[in-house]
Amino acid sequence: MANPPNMNDRVFAMLHARTTGLATGDAIAEPLIATSVYHLPNASDPTRVYGRIDNATVQAVETRIGVLEDAPTLLFPSGMATYGALTMALLKAGDTVLLLSDGYFAARAMYDSILADFDIKTRLVAARDTTDAPLDGIKMVLIETPSNPTLDLVDIAALAVRCRAAGCILVVDNTVCTPVLQQPLDLGADVVISSDTKAMSGHSDVLMGHISSRDSGMMKRVQNVRNLMGAIPGPFEAWLLLRGLETLELRLSRMCANADAIVPVLRDHSAVKDLHYPASNSAQMAHPGFLIGVTFADTAAAGRFIDGASPMIPATSFGGLHTSADRRARWGDDVEDGFLRLSLGCEPEAQIVDAIKRGLAAV
Ligand SMILES: *Cc1c(COP(=O)(O)O)cnc(C)c1O
Repeated sequence: MANPPNMNDRVFAMLHARTTGLATGDAIAEPLIATSVYHLPNASDPTRVYGRIDNATVQAVETRIGVLEDAPTLLFPSGMATYGALTMALLKAGDTVLLLSDGYFAARAMYDSILADFDIKTRLVAARDTTDAPLDGIKMVLIETPSNPTLDLVDIAALAVRCRAAGCILVVDNTVCTPVLQQPLDLGADVVISSDTKAMSGHSDVLMGHISSRDSGMMKRVQNVRNLMGAIPGPFEAWLLLRGLETLELRLSRMCANADAIVPVLRDHSAVKDLHYPASNSAQMAHPGFLIGVTFADTAAAGRFIDGASPMIPATSFGGLHTSADRRARWGDDVEDGFLRLSLGCEPEAQIVDAIKRGLAAV
């Protein structure tokens, strides 16, 4: 994994955002401050008023992520909470959103089953067709790249130029890459949203999400929505995210190295019908990532692979320490029955290669 030089600078600054400026005897680790109320003497000008507006631990984590994104950042209690807040902040009745037909399924479900009743409309396009998708009448374009689960790429910089010309907002869900592998804001996107439940936290023990943007007007609206609709995470969950975040770059380098080792093993095996893995020459990603899509003949063959590759875990979600496999047709994704999304974890490489080979032999 070859990080762009500016990303190594940001990772370094993120790790040391607290340690520079400490007084003798201060804690190196971020304190966990659990409080809903603050001491507010009369006639003072309080920096903090109430826990729904802000919390020192939550704010510290926002500062750290903000260093990686190089942008003001707000935390939310899940990835989907960022979708909801962003919609409330930036759209109104009558607006149309361009969504990926092969993006995260809950995003489409949220617009279909909830926001349609508020007269917010959607138009769908496959990730691979975004380059030419008409943007007339679109208020916001909401993409993921690589798309999920088939891992097709969208050229963010090219789409950003088209969105600017068409006067629409470009939002990138950067969950799969995290800012360490891809920086949509540097490529021209207006807003980044992320489910930090995945690789950002990385330990499969917390739900979280964030919104980042260099547009202060948009962030003000997002902050207002969070204040008034109440979607601020608790400090303990934010603190758990920070614990994972501090090793994000380290974990990703192992996860990506494991993917590098596994891709040729799968590519050369006769039981594999099809392999989905982003091209390694994509200029916008520091590395093609730790997710691999692999198609076996049918549901039963995919099941034999998962069982044979034990202790690789069968689980939905991705980005954790443990290598996992998820048969996406089970959840209604528009993929073949034998399609698995593999998420490479942080295990030592030789052992995970052996597990995958055992799985292939069992197919
Ligand atoms: C998981 C995921 C989400 C939703 O995040 P939650 O934290 O589960 O609410 C959104 N987008 C992508 C790409 C995801 O993988």
